[in-house]
Amino acid sequence: MEDKVKLERRLLRAASRAVRDFDLIVEGDRILVAVSGGKDSYTLLHVLMRLRERAPVSFELVAVNLDQGQPGFPAHVLEEHFRSIGVPYRMLKKDTYTIVKRLVPEGKTTCPVCSRLRRGILYNAAVEMGCTKIALGHHRDDLIETLLLSALYSGALKSMPARLRSDDGRNVVIRPLCYAAEEDIAAFAAAMRFPVVPCDLCGSQPNLRRRRVKELIATLSGEHPAVKGNLLNALGKVVPMHLLDRDLIARLGEAKGPDPWLDGKAAEEETGCELPGEPIVALDAGRRRAGS
Ligand code: SF4
Repeated sequence: MEDKVKLERRLLRAASRAVRDFDLIVEGDRILVAVSGGKDSYTLLHVLMRLRERAPVSFELVAVNLDQGQPGFPAHVLEEHFRSIGVPYRMLKKDTYTIVKRLVPEGKTTCPVCSRLRRGILYNAAVEMGCTKIALGHHRDDLIETLLLSALYSGALKSMPARLRSDDGRNVVIRPLCYAAEEDIAAFAAAMRFPVVPCDLCGSQPNLRRRRVKELIATLSGEHPAVKGNLLNALGKVVPMHLLDRDLIARLGEAKGPDPWLDGKAAEEETGCELPGEPIVALDAGRRRAGS
């Protein structure tokens, strides 16, 4: 297994870059760090604590765990961890498990409803606790899987942003691990012996689509190791004019210029080639006149 120090350095570099690229942390921030007990959120907390030691701005961290009432959820494990690393923390408890079981038909995956309820509770907690940001542990692999899932199954080109203001404007969500590779996080969490709590205590069905997309990316990565990095880069290198989003093109002002199909002079300027004869609109009008 790779050296813990090297892994930490790589994770810190990835997080610092994300913080800089998207202005994720500013002077005076009080950040609620959502810690579910998974490898990603433990690593996120660790990375933010380390960044805080060396950051050019001062900010506060509060680790928050939400016990959603899954049978056997060992909240005490997380509380002991928070105490042992000396981070200010808050333990929340809300039985969303019963609600999820009631709402979601047997055999269907419960994660979307469960995570929506969790998000609502965390958003409210952040406001109550005076937190300016909520940090989540999503990483590079979550972002690229979500990109493909969305394109393949929802028909929209989108993923998880590094920074997002909630619809009601009350919260700002940040993802400082958005550039970090899942394999680094997994190796680091194992090396640090974080007391990982499985998320499937609720007995949820696995999300088959996400698993298949994960497998697809893994297969392609096996053939070409740059695949994951390229997909992440693609998220930061959008070429709107080579897509078909007419609203976006209009917003970029490209659709506002003269239309070369209606104005021969504009077409010459636009294309750099001389169009023969009269402008297209006049030819068209003439044809219409001739035909009428
Ligand atoms: S596995 Fe269970 S606890 Fe975890 S997000 Fe899905 S429904 Fe919620």
